[in-house]
Amino acid sequence: MLRERSPLNRQKMCKAHILQLMISLLPGKVFRLLEAAGKIAGEKGYAAYLVGGMVRDLLQGIANLDIDIAVEGEGIAFAEELAHRLSGRMQGKTRFGTAIVTFPGGLKVDVATARSEYYKYPAALPEVRSGSIKEDQFRRDFTVNAMSIRLNPGEFGTLIDFFGGREDLKKGVIRALHKGSFLDDPTRIFRAVRFAERYGFRIEKRTEELIKEAVKSAMFDELTIERLRDELVLIFSDKNPVRAIEKMAGLHELKFIHPRIRFDKKSRKLLEGVKETLIWFKNSFPGEKINIWLIYFAALLDRLTPEEIRATCRRFLLSQKNEAKIIIGKKEASQRLKELNKKGKVNPSRIYKCLEDLSLEPLLLVMARAEKEAREGIAFYLNELRQVKTKLNGTDLRKLGLEPGPQFARILKELLYARLDGRVKSKEDEVEYVRRNFGPGDMAVGGLEPATRGL
Ligand code: ATP
Ligand code: MG
Repeated sequence: MLRERSPLNRQKMCKAHILQLMISLLPGKVFRLLEAAGKIAGEKGYAAYLVGGMVRDLLQGIANLDIDIAVEGEGIAFAEELAHRLSGRMQGKTRFGTAIVTFPGGLKVDVATARSEYYKYPAALPEVRSGSIKEDQFRRDFTVNAMSIRLNPGEFGTLIDFFGGREDLKKGVIRALHKGSFLDDPTRIFRAVRFAERYGFRIEKRTEELIKEAVKSAMFDELTIERLRDELVLIFSDKNPVRAIEKMAGLHELKFIHPRIRFDKKSRKLLEGVKETLIWFKNSFPGEKINIWLIYFAALLDRLTPEEIRATCRRFLLSQKNEAKIIIGKKEASQRLKELNKKGKVNPSRIYKCLEDLSLEPLLLVMARAEKEAREGIAFYLNELRQVKTKLNGTDLRKLGLEPGPQFARILKELLYARLDGRVKSKEDEVEYVRRNFGPGDMAVGGLEPATRGL
């Protein structure tokens, strides 16, 4: 499956070209940091390499500032010196010789001691011993992620590519390094899809066979399930989760999320609905933060019963808050849509009441399922209604002579509904409205529509 590059070939790798890429793509302070790292390594008699995603992306002309450095030598001693010289701080050192160095201004470097690892049995935690950069690269997932760039002075910018990563990058291929790779670490089954999808690459044929074989016997235990969840979060946050899900389905990977999940016509429709909804939302409200991954995850779990959904959320160690959002997005959808689909003129306050208790993720999930009428109602709510505020606040109510208390929230809600429906337009209108309906002496007057009555 894998042809090794000859050393001669390796030397031919165009150092000047890599240097050029580094100069043009990396901010000056990152470039200088890498130079300093190489210098420190040289002084200590070590070799330092830039490794992983940053190398892969540099070669594609993409700026990726996730700096991973592998050191042949004492990784921790190197990290300490790097922190010391460049006014950084070393954190999180481990017995595996890894550490993180952070610098003022937000730069961060992951340092690892170049290492090899072997697995006592499939999916076990790796046993680690220090080794050479070649062994370090061999334990990585795919050829395109197993290249490194020398940082030591004199060799700074030299690409080290033992496994043909550069050629695979040119061809647009995701290729595993050895046949046991997916059994050693089943999260790679998902990483293959993630990288293929992100860069529009194809999974190499033999690698795909290995995935299909591994899928039959791979297992995610408590330790690996969190890493699987992290991979899924990345896949669902990336450019085209629907295509990635389709690819996962083709490789029979969805069963690891839940055995009853399918990618059929119905789930495709919902997922496409989510995609369209999110495109609209992101264009309309670019500054608003939402958990996109959560919405896709919820859509994928949609065919499961609430009990199965809960169990899956717990298996993946989702927070209670996120679990609740997924459940609400499913349970509430049909009733809310029914309400929004009612024919005839609907008061804005009614749309507002129908949606006001939903946070954005469940709301967008409801929108993803909606047909035209309800969709327009939700868009109206998001674009306009939720922006509406009353002119009066609690202090104003007190000034109007009302007794402070829990009823203030109710009064302000009523006022908001009146404003949404155009029954009050100005601050004076609001004062008048409050006087008329809630004024001192009138506070106990009945007959008002209860503001927070359920739908
Ligand atoms: P991204 O741009 O998404 O961060 P990345 O390649 O940097 O992509 P990371 O998950 O940050 O991915 O990992 C950094 C590097 O560590 C990878 O490029 C790869 O060499 C190695 N790596 C990460 N996870 C695995 C794994 N499960 N098995 C083998 N190697 C891995
Ligand atoms: Mg990374």
